[in-house]
Amino acid sequence: MRRGFKAEAERTAAEHRSRIGCEDFDPLDIEKMAQALGVDLIPADDLVERERLEELEEIQSGAFSAGTFNVAGRRVVVYNPLNSEGRQRSDLAHELAHIILGHKVRTIESVGELKLLTCDAEQEEEADWLAGCLLLPRPLLLKCARDEWSAKKIARKHRTSEHMARFRLNASGVLVQIGRAKAAKNRKSGNSA
Ligand SMILES: [Zn+2]
Repeated sequence: MRRGFKAEAERTAAEHRSRIGCEDFDPLDIEKMAQALGVDLIPADDLVERERLEELEEIQSGAFSAGTFNVAGRRVVVYNPLNSEGRQRSDLAHELAHIILGHKVRTIESVGELKLLTCDAEQEEEADWLAGCLLLPRPLLLKCARDEWSAKKIARKHRTSEHMARFRLNASGVLVQIGRAKAAKNRKSGNSA
């Protein structure tokens, strides 16, 4: 990721959250954010039979998460409704992050019988990072960490996966920040005793 992107992503996330009236400590309203961006969210079982999705899931679990398409001038995000809520919200936030960042909709390339979605590794990393900021912005994490919330509790309250909550607690640096503040406080009280 290019230098400065992480801090920029926090600012971008805060901006886009506040634009839809989502306070720092509110769970992200993905539907509302999609609407504000002019994007339709469509569960894949609106387009294909649910059985087909279940078959695919059996053959290769987790193979399909979500994808963004241009349909008649509108942007459409199709997602897999079989995934857990936390995973679905991560997938959707990832797709919205691509759109916010102005990434090009991925092109489908045919190689013989195979259809491949091409993606740019750098853009995927950026979308992942911004998605995390949208779902769990740093100020929220800082408050949660101060209140000693576990990753599990954060995930439950903010409807993310536990994996995402744990990742963000670490990656955002709030655990280190809280740890340092605590150590400083202990030193202080140790000195004065
Ligand atoms: Zn992506």
